[in-house]
Amino acid sequence: MDRNIEHYDVCIIGGSIAGNYLCYLLSKTKLKIAVIEEHKEIGLPVQCAGIVSQKLSQLIELPQEIVQNRVDKVKLVAPSGKIIRLSGNEQPYIIDRHALDLLFYSKVKDNPNITYYLEERFKSLKYRYLVQEKKQIITVETSKRRLTTKILVGCDGPLSSVAKLMGIKYNKLYATQIRIQGNFRDDEVVMYFDPRWKELFGWIIPEGFNNICRIGLASAKNVARNFRIFLKKLKIDSLKAIEHQGGIIPYGILNKSAFDNVLLLGDSACQVKATTGGGIIMLLTGAKYAANCIIKCFNMNNFSSSFIRRFYERPSRSTIGKQLKIHYLIRTVLELFTNYDYEKMFQMIKTSKIEHLISIYGDMDFPKGLLTKLIKNPLFLSFFIKFILKKPNIFVRFLKILTK
Ligand SMILES: Cc1cc2nc3c(=O)[nH]c(=O)nc-3n(C[C@H](O)[C@H](O)[C@H](O)COP(=O)(O)OP(=O)(O)OC[C@H]3O[C@@H](n4cnc5c(N)ncnc54)[C@H](O)[C@@H]3O)c2cc1C
Repeated sequence: MDRNIEHYDVCIIGGSIAGNYLCYLLSKTKLKIAVIEEHKEIGLPVQCAGIVSQKLSQLIELPQEIVQNRVDKVKLVAPSGKIIRLSGNEQPYIIDRHALDLLFYSKVKDNPNITYYLEERFKSLKYRYLVQEKKQIITVETSKRRLTTKILVGCDGPLSSVAKLMGIKYNKLYATQIRIQGNFRDDEVVMYFDPRWKELFGWIIPEGFNNICRIGLASAKNVARNFRIFLKKLKIDSLKAIEHQGGIIPYGILNKSAFDNVLLLGDSACQVKATTGGGIIMLLTGAKYAANCIIKCFNMNNFSSSFIRRFYERPSRSTIGKQLKIHYLIRTVLELFTNYDYEKMFQMIKTSKIEHLISIYGDMDFPKGLLTKLIKNPLFLSFFIKFILKKPNIFVRFLKILTK
């Protein structure tokens, strides 16, 4: 082996939430880990609205200083301006996303087995077969060095170079957000639906301090124009914003995430809910499977794609993957909604027991339970059947998603 280059057991590309959390989970082992992050500072720039379901505190030990606010209501706004206010068991956290990314970094940065290479960009990978040891490793090339690794994990987000090199592609949404002071309620999140930004919605998320809110919107096309329309609707002057943020959200369902010596985790694996663009709960769950699988790879000395598929991709698919499919099915329906459909749906929710069902069974991450209840509601069922009969092509799209 080349003596001039450094050798690692695991190389993680991307030092954001997925990369840092995985590194933290693996830090309890003796594995030698490198994390390559292209930015100078961990967690910056922030590209997140920071709303995460209360499952967050079940998945990780959540320090109080990361939680900025909690909301217990959601206001849904139809294109006509019609409003529905829902409240229930879910009380999402509004978090300081920069602090969340730093949380796991600070827990591992002094570990002698772990090296963070900041301001360094992953460029390429090459498989290499070691004849004597009868095993395959990977040579990684970054903007500053070459290193070898037995496992490479792509935690490099929605524009993942690792995923691209593995032949994986996703559709993308473009998001834009401002932080601004305004006269909004501190205890509720607002979602504005509109066929012009049919792939997601416009949002107002209160930080819970000094009347500062995060106001944003995501769509597949024309995001800047849509955001201007949205702010005009809200009578908000973006020149008064404290901060402008933006980013990309992958859009689709779980694709292949296991390859020989390589795993994809987080946005690079499209572990993102198509209904809300939220990825944090999904990737934290995925990271636990990834860590478990990586430890098994070393215990069994098996780094093959079939092994990684068995211990990472399959468990991920059968848990978060199933729920992500449901999110995508819901989004496929919402994407076809016209102003008229929104009116009808809002009317139906207001005049039936559906509001009550959502309050009890609504779950930001796992929508299967609520959907099962809704399908049993005659009013909802007749609305849904009438809607899909008007859109015969939807069946083909459903089939494509369900068989993937
Ligand atoms: C505007 C916006 C709002 C959002 N709001 C929410 C929300 O409210 N709740 C929620 O749950 N989710 C939200 N999300 C989604 C959430 O932010 C992502 O799911 C999450 O950040 C994914 O984490 P990740 O670690 O997989 O990828 P990222 O956070 O994208 O991190 C990827 C990391 O890899 C680094 N990187 C990329 N390429 C390279 C390279 N070649 N070499 C080295 N480093 C590289 C990047 O610098 C970055 O640090 C939002 C996303 C956006 C864009």
